[in-house]
Amino acid sequence: MADSPRDLARLLLGARHGVVLTGAGVSTESGIPDFRSAGGIWENVDPMEVGSLSTFVSAPERFWSFHRPRFSAVDIIRPNPAHLAVAELERRGIIKDLITQNIDGLHRRAGSPHPIEVHGTLDFGECLRCGARISREEMVARADDAPDGVPRCTQCGFQIKSGVVLFGEQLPASAISAAFAASEAADVMLVIGSSLLVTPVSTLPDIVLRQGGALAILTESATPYDDHCTVRLHGKAGVQMTEVLTALDGLGMPAAR
Ligand code: NAD
Repeated sequence: MADSPRDLARLLLGARHGVVLTGAGVSTESGIPDFRSAGGIWENVDPMEVGSLSTFVSAPERFWSFHRPRFSAVDIIRPNPAHLAVAELERRGIIKDLITQNIDGLHRRAGSPHPIEVHGTLDFGECLRCGARISREEMVARADDAPDGVPRCTQCGFQIKSGVVLFGEQLPASAISAAFAASEAADVMLVIGSSLLVTPVSTLPDIVLRQGGALAILTESATPYDDHCTVRLHGKAGVQMTEVLTALDGLGMPAAR
């Protein structure tokens, strides 16, 4: 199995419809812990508990006391070389679609024009009862003003939930159908920083493989698809993707469109 940045560059250059699928590991070099690597904040809490719809509904104070500091962190985090490399591949027409499980908004800030955010985003808040939408800044301001730390809807009084999809919630229909359509169109899929353990996203590489496409994976740890890869890279996403860009330059990478 091929395993160098140059091999990945070659595979991407030959793609008719290249698709990138990212997970939490693409953002760890920006300082955001993933779920499953050692040493992260999630070692001491159960994401299924603090990130579930049932906790949000039954104990909103618990939910917001855990999540409120993360909303401040969004303002200081920055895209890292892996996000920037993906955006560059899109600019050059090598990657046609970007699917992300991340909710941190870093792909958009790196210049990716329309990431398909299948697990939602931190960028807005929504009333779970009447559906009224407010900006992240407004949601955070209301949380800080509330005696119990829970932002509430000014129209109906119910608690505001961020645009992030919680455990126990449906995925946004338009995003998930766009992710399936992109995977069906793909002849090459590059997965960066996902353990590929969370459904339904974990089924997307299978769509590409079943229609004869090629799969490349770049993560630090193992995934269930490792034996099915055309190219398998290990190591830090930012470092490896920078090397992929350098290798593309050496191979005569097409100019930005
Ligand atoms: P995961 O935690 O299950 O797996 C992360 C993968 O990335 C692992 O294989 C790990 O080895 C790899 N990894 C970690 N750092 C890396 C690096 N620097 N370079 C290369 N690989 C690296 O993540 P997942 O598959 O995305 O599933 C977790 C769920 O948690 C997703 O639903 C996601 O929405 C959510 N989540 C998102 C964020 C975020 O938005 N930044 C952060 C934590 C969790």
